[in-house]
Amino acid sequence: MAGAVGRNGYLHVIKDLGMREPYRGSVPIISGELAEDFTLYFAESEQTPSAVGLGVLVNTDDSVIHAGGFIVQIMPGMSDSQLDRLERAVASMPHVTALLDQGETAEGILKFLVGEDVTIHQTVEPIFKCMCSRERVERTLVTIGTADLRSLIDEDGQAEVHCHFCNEKYVFEREELEAIHNRATRD
Ligand SMILES: [Zn+2]
Repeated sequence: MAGAVGRNGYLHVIKDLGMREPYRGSVPIISGELAEDFTLYFAESEQTPSAVGLGVLVNTDDSVIHAGGFIVQIMPGMSDSQLDRLERAVASMPHVTALLDQGETAEGILKFLVGEDVTIHQTVEPIFKCMCSRERVERTLVTIGTADLRSLIDEDGQAEVHCHFCNEKYVFEREELEAIHNRATRD
C-alpha cells in the first residue's frame, strides 16, 4: 500500500460525531502503510495506544475481493500480562489479507487477538455513507451571511459545493440562492 500512499504528507482524520464542528486530527505520514500510520495517529493525536491492522485483496482487474481490518485499543486498568499477551498476538498474527482470504471472520480475528473469552456487545455493518444532504449544505450556505451570498449571486450566478467527506457535488442555481439569501436575511 505504501507505493500508492507515499511517504510525504499528512494523514487527516475527520470524525463527524454529530456535534457542531467535526473532530479533526492529523499526523505526518511516516510509513505509507496505512495501518502503521493510523497506529501513530491514535497514539499522537488521540493519545490512545492502539494496534491497527488493515488488508485489501485486489483482483487482477483492480476490483476488491476482500477488505478488512481491526483496531484494538487499550482500556485503562489492563494488566501487564494481558498487555503482553496482546502484544504477542499482534506480532504473531498473519497478515489480515491472508486471514480474509482463508475466509476468517471478524469474530475470528478478534479472538486471535484477545483470546476466546470475549463478549460481543454490538455488531454493526460498516457502510460507505455520508451525513451530507442538500438541506445540510443549504443551512451551511445560510451561515456565510447575506453579503457573501449577494456577491455569490451577482458574480457567479450559481454555487457549487463539494462535500469533503464523500465528494458529492451540490449545485445551487440563482433562484435557490436568492431563497437562501432571503432566509439569511431573516435569521
Ligand atoms: Zn458527503
